[in-house]
Amino acid sequence: MNALAQHITALIRASGPLTLAEFMALCLQHPEHGYYTTRDPLGAEGDFTTAPEISQMFGELVGLCLAQSWLDAGAPSPFTLAELGPGRGTLMADIMRATRAVPGFHAAAELLLVETSPALRARQKAALAGYQPAWANQLTPKNQPLFLIANEFFDALPIRQFIRDEAGWRERVVGLDDGALAFGLTDATQLAALEHRWNDTEIGDVVELSGHADAVASEISSHIAAQGGCALIIDYGDWRSKGDTFQALKAHKKVSPLTALGTADLTAHVDFEALAKAAAEVQHSKLTPQGLFLERLGVTARAQALAKKLSGAALESHIAAHRRLTHPEEMGTLFKVMALTPQGAPPPAGLEDDA
Ligand code: SAH
Repeated sequence: MNALAQHITALIRASGPLTLAEFMALCLQHPEHGYYTTRDPLGAEGDFTTAPEISQMFGELVGLCLAQSWLDAGAPSPFTLAELGPGRGTLMADIMRATRAVPGFHAAAELLLVETSPALRARQKAALAGYQPAWANQLTPKNQPLFLIANEFFDALPIRQFIRDEAGWRERVVGLDDGALAFGLTDATQLAALEHRWNDTEIGDVVELSGHADAVASEISSHIAAQGGCALIIDYGDWRSKGDTFQALKAHKKVSPLTALGTADLTAHVDFEALAKAAAEVQHSKLTPQGLFLERLGVTARAQALAKKLSGAALESHIAAHRRLTHPEEMGTLFKVMALTPQGAPPPAGLEDDA
């Protein structure tokens, strides 16, 4: 049993089973042994790969989308350009490179990186050396317009899970069985937060809630409603959570979340409807598949332009990257994009309602 497992076992002995959210928060964020505290999890040698690590095209197009929203808002200056969970800083570096030619954008942008991991903050510092970003553990932007990107951030926030039975909802918890960590279920209760799920679920169905994700969405919403701006949220998930999506990934493979605590990435799919509800002070765009979003922004033309300079293995890997980002069997439909904008603002490029 590793140090984190010993710590969690002692907590459960002292005060009873943990909700999945409490367990996730400890595994991911424990100040000494947490997964994100101790490592850089990204890339081929890590546990998972993200869109900006697959191809520069992702960040370039996200950058153009944000810059277009900034222009549509009247090019406010100064403004906060924020990223939640910036990983290695690759996405923000690509956004900045792609927006160099947008007049006034760089001069007006104040970079804010919301990141709890010391290991990843160091990577971001290196990737963004030319831009003097500020760091924060939570989103606390200045009173000025906020343009924000969060890619694969919300899926890392703690969730609670509930299983429906005849009498109500039983919560999935982590307790002890013979001294070993084991999943359990509480007795059934009624939950106001799940009232709207009574009509579209049956006995045995699992639904997930993330109070943490909802709180972040609500914070973004209040800020954009008051100050203007635009938030792009990109992640895997769907309009409504249904089913058990809690998973642990280690070296690109699924593992049990209850073994080798703090050494595997724990995630759950994002419930975009819950985010949209929490962001009630602003409007949300139509939830759009990542592949469609990137196609509308011209990813194929950009891929062809980049391909002209490539040959051999580099060309093949570039073609594979384009496919990975956009194809329905890869990230194209599993990943979704939703924008939050002030009431009455036009939808950002790529997220139009029509098609
Ligand atoms: N957006 C990046 C990285 C995604 S990995 C990319 O697309 O490549 C998730 C990121 O969120 C990491 O940077 C991680 O350290 C950060 N993170 C996870 N939970 C967080 C929390 N509760 N608060 C702040 N950052 C968090």
